[in-house]
Amino acid sequence: MALRQIRFEGDPVLEKNCREVKEMTPRLVELVGDMLETMHAEQGVGLAAPQVGILRRIAVVDIGEGGPGPIVLVNPVILSSEGEVTDNEGCLSVPGKAGKVTRPQKICVRAFNEKMEPFEMEAEDFLARAICHEMDHLDGVLYVTKVTGGLFDVGEDEDDEYDEDEDAAKAADAGETAGEETDGQ
Ligand SMILES: [Zn+2]
Repeated sequence: MALRQIRFEGDPVLEKNCREVKEMTPRLVELVGDMLETMHAEQGVGLAAPQVGILRRIAVVDIGEGGPGPIVLVNPVILSSEGEVTDNEGCLSVPGKAGKVTRPQKICVRAFNEKMEPFEMEAEDFLARAICHEMDHLDGVLYVTKVTGGLFDVGEDEDDEYDEDEDAAKAADAGETAGEETDGQ
């Protein structure tokens, strides 16, 4: 496995529609492994294939503590969604920034794993947000186009401070550790 180069906002690859995966080739298995490694190395909670320059419908999500562990989503589809939550979001392709985005509170997703075995899962709150964010990437959509109230700057220190001051209680409720709310996805 190896780290992949993250593509940043302004790179046309982030605005393209990704193609479905028909079969898991050894190359794509390697890509999934690299995406997981890159996401963890960058301390992100999600990463989509176009963020490393590959136009395939593959995303990985790992919200860390309180979450189900690393999830691989191949050809994901949202079967149903309910509710709305507006909260902060960030992206590894838009470093140092965050903004408020409204996402479903709960979703049901169907996808394939890295062995092309189909599965369905439900996700709520921060996990649902992370999955929706990654799925947008597969359609060439960046969260910055969905932000209400404008983007704001987050440095690593400011990020921690922000969470402690304003989001600590909420993060604790959601089983999240402070600092994850505006982590890149
Ligand atoms: Zn992102």
